[in-house]
Amino acid sequence: MAGDLQLICSDCGREFTFTSQDQAFFRERGYSAPKRCKPCRSAKKNEQGGGGGGGGYRAQAQGTSVICSGCGQQTTVPFEPRGDRPVYCRDCYQAQKGGAGGGGGGGRGGRGRY
Ligand SMILES: [Zn+2]
Ligand SMILES: [Zn+2]
Repeated sequence: MAGDLQLICSDCGREFTFTSQDQAFFRERGYSAPKRCKPCRSAKKNEQGGGGGGGGYRAQAQGTSVICSGCGQQTTVPFEPRGDRPVYCRDCYQAQKGGAGGGGGGGRGGRGRY
């Protein structure tokens, strides 16, 4: 039976072991010998998997500086304020949520992010 092979990773240039077990596995599937070591391969895989959608990223939405309608302090909210309703800092938002009884304003639509 074949022994292990030492291959050079085309990504990081390090030597890695292509074990006889892996060789058999690869041959079974009709794969050619790997060009990259395992760490590089899995890194590559993660890259591809994560980048699925491609272009559209919404880094902008990470935080928007606004003035809290409750306490007047500057705060950062994880969404873009629409302007048609008050924006609260986290503290005030929590207070609002906890304090709001059966009064009005039932439907808090928009982005159910909180
Ligand atoms: Zn490598
Ligand atoms: Zn506030």
